[in-house]
Amino acid sequence: MRFLIWLGLFASIVAATVWYATRDECGRSGALSCPDVALEEGVGTTLDAHEECPGSGYLCAESRRFQVARWPLDKGRLKVRITLPDFVNKIAAEKIRRVAIEGIREWDGHPFPITIDTSEISLRSGDIGVLWTQGLFNSAIGLERADWKEDGKRIDYSVNAITIVIPPEMATENLMPGDLDGDFLSQMKAVTAHEMGHALGLRHSDSPYDIMYPTLNPNPALRTVSNRDILTVDTLYTLPNGAQIE
Ligand SMILES: [Zn+2]
Repeated sequence: MRFLIWLGLFASIVAATVWYATRDECGRSGALSCPDVALEEGVGTTLDAHEECPGSGYLCAESRRFQVARWPLDKGRLKVRITLPDFVNKIAAEKIRRVAIEGIREWDGHPFPITIDTSEISLRSGDIGVLWTQGLFNSAIGLERADWKEDGKRIDYSVNAITIVIPPEMATENLMPGDLDGDFLSQMKAVTAHEMGHALGLRHSDSPYDIMYPTLNPNPALRTVSNRDILTVDTLYTLPNGAQIE
């Protein structure tokens, strides 16, 4: 009997060791399959724009010379923390936040699964925080601050915040939820989606049908992440992080 217990214990240790040695280490949180390590060690490599730019959406629309800078593929998951705008009527604030979350989720799975954190107090800060303001310099309606530097062959990438403008005429305690028309809400959604695109590493599109076009489309029905936006971000994440395109 005692022999069987020892045998069982031994078998458990062997099984645990085999599991530990062969477990899948990449794509923690079960997000992405094992990315190629070389894709994260691109600093110092140069790629030919003639080969990389065609068929990759608007990747090279702003400039044909640029350095690839994005989140590492083994990141697994992106956490976005989004609190309520506290200078707006509470019910209106909830509505605005709801459409902003819709805008963020339009990128879900490209390439990262996105987790939204709406808790007012959070012990863990997210990868990206959404800030609300009543105005920015030079009348911009949104702002994103990516912060990245080279770290050997790798890119150390982070985002300070996504900032979304709620115009002062909408941002009053007296604003009733009924005052929020579809046009305004679609603007909030589109601006958040646009800034989220920058947070993923995208630059501007040359087509007004893409969410990454520098200005808001006048037609609310066209303020959405397009197939071309998706093609561009998917392509960005197939390029070696840190590589120079020229
Ligand atoms: Zn922009």
